[in-house]
Amino acid sequence: MNRAIERTSVNTSDVTSDLTSDVTSDLTSDVASDVASGTAIGAGIDPFGSDEARWAAVQRRDGGADGRFYYSVRTTGVYCRPSCGARAALRANVAFHASGADAERAGFRPCLRCKPDQPPLAERHARVVAQACRLIDASEAEPDLDSLATACGMSRFHFHRIFKQHTGITPKAYAAARRAGKVDAGLATAGSVTEAIYAAGYNSSGRFYANAPARLGMTPTAWRAGGSGAVIRFAIGACSLGAILVASTEKGICAILIGDDPDALARDLQDRFPAAELRGADAAYEETVARVVGLVEAPNVGLDLPLDVRGTAFQQRVWQALREIPAGQTVSYAELAARIGMPAGARAIAGACAANPVAVAIPCHRVVRTDGALSGYRWGVERKRILLDRESEGGA
Ligand SMILES: [Zn+2]
Repeated sequence: MNRAIERTSVNTSDVTSDLTSDVTSDLTSDVASDVASGTAIGAGIDPFGSDEARWAAVQRRDGGADGRFYYSVRTTGVYCRPSCGARAALRANVAFHASGADAERAGFRPCLRCKPDQPPLAERHARVVAQACRLIDASEAEPDLDSLATACGMSRFHFHRIFKQHTGITPKAYAAARRAGKVDAGLATAGSVTEAIYAAGYNSSGRFYANAPARLGMTPTAWRAGGSGAVIRFAIGACSLGAILVASTEKGICAILIGDDPDALARDLQDRFPAAELRGADAAYEETVARVVGLVEAPNVGLDLPLDVRGTAFQQRVWQALREIPAGQTVSYAELAARIGMPAGARAIAGACAANPVAVAIPCHRVVRTDGALSGYRWGVERKRILLDRESEGGA
């Protein structure tokens, strides 16, 4: 039923985003004021705003709901994350809590399986990887695997696996890339890039259209008029495909841009978010950059980071369809058009692919011409070829 509702709302707001922008701007200003006052996202946009929706999320073990709420089971006295793999409870015994602390105040103890009182596993691992990256960065000589693993409190093998999983490259490869100055030149240049952006000024006034993209696994951010008030952190580094710019709101990654010229990437970012406050990234951000670089180097691995992308309802629909194409496979524009129920929409789809703000994470490189030729790619056809080669070599 949810799906049907989504479809309907998408159809009404399709392409003619202008028609719905008034409604949307009401929603976004609600959200903006919620964010400004530090409270949760407004119920109008919260996909887990009702007990019914929360229960549905628990039943499908929706990892996207983790952190948004917790549920307790009266008969076991335990509370869990929505994604917990524990045996399903009866609805009648389940209650919902806004936070783990709330659940504990109500007398429940954390589940030993999903550990809802600790950061999510991916986040704990990400911290370990970030810590290891910093150790490598700070070392004159290349640190050996054993000492890295020990410093991170993990076994050598576990550490190696986690590091590879999160960055897409081995600690040794990371150290080598780092020494060669290939990873994250952004920290050194962030200051000057930021200055360049500020010097260029914010004067365009793009229309901001926020569509609640819960079905994408992407969280909506409050975009006030022109994006003002939004804070976007970014860093520029280098990957095997050239310069790479990664930018995030507090909700997730909002841009992954790839090109030859770091300054051009910075200008592109500014054009996309003309009124946002762009901040050169701090040291903590380099872990995010490392993970995105890992995605580019090993696209099959996927990216375990939330996205925060904005676009018209139509674009969101195309982007969602792109994310459903498995690594190692390609589809034609025509086929993609058929998949989203717009058989005559191949041209519009090409436009939506070109507008994709997050290279690789939304894999628009997996769309090819009907005859299989690579055709255009926002980030360059040669890069598209390399990405597709990597995916077909890597196995899904
Ligand atoms: Zn649990």
